[in-house]
Formats: sequence, C-alpha cells, structure tokens
Amino acid sequence: MSVPKIVILGAGYGGLMTAKGLQKELNHNEAEVTLVNQHSYHYITTKLHEPAAGTSHHDHARLSIASVINTNKINFIQDRVTAIKLNEKEVHLENREPLKYDYLVIGLGSAPETFGIKGLLENAFFIRNIDSVRMIREHMEYMFARYQNEKKEELITIVVGGAGFTGIEYVGELVDRMPELCREYDIPLEKVRIINVEAAPTVLPGFDKELVDYAVKYLESKGVEFLISTPIEECTEKGVILKGGKEIKAATVVWTGGVRGNKLVEESGIETMRGRVKVDEYLRAPGYDHVFVVGDSSLVFNEEERPYPPTAQMATQQGQHLGKNLAALIRGGEMKPFKYMPKGTVASLGRKEAIGVVGDKKYVGGMAAFLKKVIDLRWLFLLGGVSLVLRKGKL
Ligand code: FAD
Ligand code: NAD
Repeated sequence: MSVPKIVILGAGYGGLMTAKGLQKELNHNEAEVTLVNQHSYHYITTKLHEPAAGTSHHDHARLSIASVINTNKINFIQDRVTAIKLNEKEVHLENREPLKYDYLVIGLGSAPETFGIKGLLENAFFIRNIDSVRMIREHMEYMFARYQNEKKEELITIVVGGAGFTGIEYVGELVDRMPELCREYDIPLEKVRIINVEAAPTVLPGFDKELVDYAVKYLESKGVEFLISTPIEECTEKGVILKGGKEIKAATVVWTGGVRGNKLVEESGIETMRGRVKVDEYLRAPGYDHVFVVGDSSLVFNEEERPYPPTAQMATQQGQHLGKNLAALIRGGEMKPFKYMPKGTVASLGRKEAIGVVGDKKYVGGMAAFLKKVIDLRWLFLLGGVSLVLRKGKL
C-alpha cells in the first residue's frame, strides 16, 4: 500500500521544525517524508551577522542537517529546487528527477528586497547565507589590507544600508570587530568609518523608542555614524548615492534594507504579496489545500489585519504547529488553526550589549545580551536537545 508523500522544501527554521515534528509524531510507514535543501547544512540565520563581521567563524552558524534529523524517518535530499509545479504536484530539482508530492511544505525563506534600487544587486553585499557572509568578511579584510598601500579612505569605509534589526545587529558586530581588525592591519581605529543609512525618520522604525535611543547612543559612542531620513537611491562600484545626490564613497556596502519572499514561490503561480503567501489559519496557500507555507515565504496577519514581521520565532512556531497538523491530517483527523504567540524581541549590539522587550519588560546591556544568548541556545535545544547545546552552544 502506498503512503502519502510529504515533501518539505527548505531546511530553515520553518522547514526543519516541520520535519522534526513529523519525525516525532509519525510512526514508520505512515508517510514518506522528504526534506530538500540546497546545502547539506542548516544555517542559523539569526547568527549570520557575526561571521559577516568576522566576530565568529561561520561554522558557529551552521549545523549538518543529517546530525539533527533522523534519516531513517526523514529522507534528506541535498539539491536546489528550480521550480514548483502545482498542477502536476511535483517539485523540480537541479540534479534529479522531479519529486512527486501529496502534501507540500514550502519553507524556502526570503531574498533581499532591493526595491529596484539601481546597482544594489551588482555592487552591494547581503547577509543571506554562509556563502554570502564569508564573502563580506573576506572582502572587508582585503580592503583593509589594501589601505596600507593605497591610503584611500573609502577602503576603510563601510556603509550599511538599512537600520532595521539586521542592520543594527551587523553594525554592533562591526563595532566589536574593528579594534582587532585595525590592529591586524596597523590602521588607527579612528580612521575607520561605519555609516548606517536609514530611509525612515528613525533607526529601528516601529520599535520601542527608549530602546532605540539606547542602541543609537551606545553605537554612536563606538564611532558609528547614523544617517536617518536618508534613502539610498543608487549603489555603484564606488559606494552609494543618497536622495538629493550626495555620494558616500565606500569599498564595502552591505544592504540590510529588508526582505521579500523567495522568487520560486511567486513563479509557482501562488498569489503573493512581495513574494510572500498570505496563508490561511492552517498555513495553507490560497486555492491549494495540499500546499502549506511556513517562515519568511508566508505572511500571517494579526487581529488588526497588520502583517507580523518575518522572523525565526514565527517560522519556528509555524513549523512546530504544522508538524502536528500534518500528522493529524494524514490520519484522517482535524487540523488545528495556527495562532502566533509573540514572545518578544531581543537584538544584539555586539557580544556584550543588546536591547530587547520580553513580555512587557524592557532589557538593555548585559542582561539583554544574556537573553539573546539564551534564545540562540533554545534553538539548538529544539533541534538537538541538551547534547547539541553542549556541543555547539556558547554563552
Ligand atoms: P531560512 O531560515 O532562511 O531557511 C530557508 C532554507 O531554504 C535555507 O536552508 C535555504 O538554503 C533553503 N533554500 C532556499 N532556496 C532554496 C532552493 N532553491 N532549493 C533548496 N533549498 C533552498 N529572527 C528572529 O526571530 N530573531 C532573531 O534574532 C533574528 N535575527 C536575525 C539576524 C539576521 C542577521 C538575519 C538576516 C535574520 C534574522 N532573523 C531573526 C530573521 C530570521 O532569520 C528569519 O525570519 C528566518 O530565518 C526565517 O526562517 P525560514 O525557515 O523561513 O527561512
Ligand atoms: P527590515 O525590513 O526590518 O528593515 C529594513 C530597514 O531598511 C528599514 O528600517 C527600512 O526603512 C530601511 N530601508 C529600506 N529602504 C531603504 C533605503 N533605500 N535606504 C535606506 N534605508 C532603507 O529588514 P531586516 O532588518 O533585514 O529584518 C528582516 C526581518 O528579520 C524582520 O522581520 C526583522 O524583525 C527580522 N530580524 C529580527 C532580528 C531580531 O529579532 N533580533 C534580527 C534581524 C532580523
């Protein structure tokens, strides 16, 4: 007798949690579960700003997928998805025959939102995955090495475009990294410029003002320059051009101006908003009862009909919920509606500083930094229990 085929695309927070949930819920031979991911490892996106600045090695931000799933129960395929064919109920891969599914889970994450800004895709760097952050660190170091020979200030000028959480966390890491990098390349620290450019009238738009002020004051005290109400309008080989025409020459431009859904989802024909699928209460794509979308590829609205931001916290909760729902579904049971439970937000400002809100309490400084580390450890715990925490976690 054939069993239902469940195919999960992407081993990020949403996809991995769905796979782990199915692994726990289902008995052998109840379903054939296949997880597809382009790399053999899961990258811990919430830590990618660290290797991007060089404050930690990129191996701290990745885990072998085979080490966190039971490959006797979950069939893992390392390949790149090239197309999702909804009418044929199949997924096309770069190096294999198409995969057939009865139920599809899309957890392919996001892509940088460039808003069509000229030159960004060609000239800026993005904090996206292990390959992209390795490039940023290597490039930055090479620019610092060149400075000693060429003495051009733009070589040691770093522009970070966008002061949302990714931009602020990255700038915080850069601040930690600069003293060491400057020592290594014999560059006076005060010569380095880190400029964070933000289009909105404030850094971290929409976040608690007291915490934003704390972050700005701390980062400015470490030499970061903020340019607010200043949209970047173009990125060139030489740097960025701001609204009004002013140019900032910078050899390193890192774009952290926002994300949109993975383009494969748009191309599949599912209705999307900025590449993200407004899912129903069971996390299904509109019009496709057998297709579920989790994480940054999905869009969930709150009671005021405002979209929740795409976060690992959301993706994790969705994956945990969907694992249980899919198990119920294939056993002929009822699915339960998904309800997001926001637990708070904590953003690092380097290793020892952070800001955050958990419940109705605000945290800054060392306490917030400690909370951030606990959140990181929790993800390791969900993936691999205490042994993974002991192996990979560091406080
Ligand atoms: P991802 O985790 O991005 O996973 C998608 C997976 O799909 C990846 O493994 C990818 O390789 C794979 N994939 C993509 N395309 C293909 C393809 N064509 N074929 C095969 N595989 C493919 N959120 C928080 O809640 N807290 C934080 O502290 C936080 N910090 C962040 C820090 C940074 C620097 C960044 C960039 C983001 C941060 N976020 C944070 C946001 C969070 O990381 C994302 O919301 C989360 O990663 C989304 O999970 P996901 O499962 O949708 O996608
Ligand atoms: P974002 O959309 O939250 O922030 C992007 C910022 O770039 C915005 O402030 C926007 O005004 C600015 N911007 C856009 N166009 C610009 C332009 N032309 N010039 C200058 N600035 C411009 O994106 P993000 O920071 O990458 O975050 C993505 C998601 O990941 C969010 O949901 C965020 O909450 C989540 N995240 C969470 C954490 C955390 O919880 N610690 C950390 C990182 C990311």
